[in-house]
Amino acid sequence: MTHTAHAQRVAIVTGAARGIGAAVAKRLARDGLAVGVVDLNEAECAGTVKAITSNGGTAAAVAADVADETAVTAAVAQIASELGSPTVLVNNAGIGGPDVGVAEMTTQQWDAVTGVSLRGAFFLTRAVSPHMVAAGWGRIINMSSISALGDSGRADYASAKAGLIGFTKTLALQLGRQGVTANAIAPGFIVSDMTRTSARRRGRAFEEHQRLAAQAIPVGRVGQPEDIAHTASFLASPGAGFLSGQVIYVAGGPVD
Ligand code: NAD
Repeated sequence: MTHTAHAQRVAIVTGAARGIGAAVAKRLARDGLAVGVVDLNEAECAGTVKAITSNGGTAAAVAADVADETAVTAAVAQIASELGSPTVLVNNAGIGGPDVGVAEMTTQQWDAVTGVSLRGAFFLTRAVSPHMVAAGWGRIINMSSISALGDSGRADYASAKAGLIGFTKTLALQLGRQGVTANAIAPGFIVSDMTRTSARRRGRAFEEHQRLAAQAIPVGRVGQPEDIAHTASFLASPGAGFLSGQVIYVAGGPVD
């Protein structure tokens, strides 16, 4: 960690050890924010923190399971004391279970998947939004998915990601007058460990999995974590204050 410059805005990005969250954390740091890098294990956050600090930015690694209420409260308090009051929150942590029909889905799988994406976003937002309200300014960005519109194999994931959209719109209604916006990003296929795991589960080489996905994407390629980071950067920016309660599909084409 390095010292926080006076009045530097502070962001919290969950699931920021790798993938989309790491790209978002690095991008927000490049935009001038100090970033609380939250993930399951502090050591795994080291790569993201190092990438930020070696570039002259400010970041702190904080371990928390976002589905654990007590851990979230402690993590937010730690970030507020180390970096300052957080006014940008990116609820990005998420997991996807295996594809199974609803009749075969275990309660444990449903709870694990919805627990990270949905309960996690609730816990973080409940802990961070008072900082935003006190500052009279805030940006909440929830990582949904095109799976919110339906997913042939993952009722748990689709429900969690659709739930995040209702959560986002409600936050926009509740917090707008306090200067806080809330929006959801719904990524399509993004190259990350998550899509690497889906390829493995389907018994496909990752290259082949990407090639097949790209065939169905209008812009003719799969997405990269930086595509999502670019959108998050825009939504977190001061100029995006009139954009709230929206879902932005970042999927290389229209989705419905
Ligand atoms: P990833 O698996 O590469 O990274 C997820 C990160 O979240 C990991 O660092 C992991 O340790 C962390 N994490 C998992 N459970 C956690 C918990 N309980 N507490 C704290 N951290 C936790 O996945 P990704 O592709 O970077 O996905 C990031 C987000 O984007 C997820 O919410 C995912 O559902 C969403 N998304 C991804 C895609 C895609 O194609 N990759 C598409 C749509 C939406």
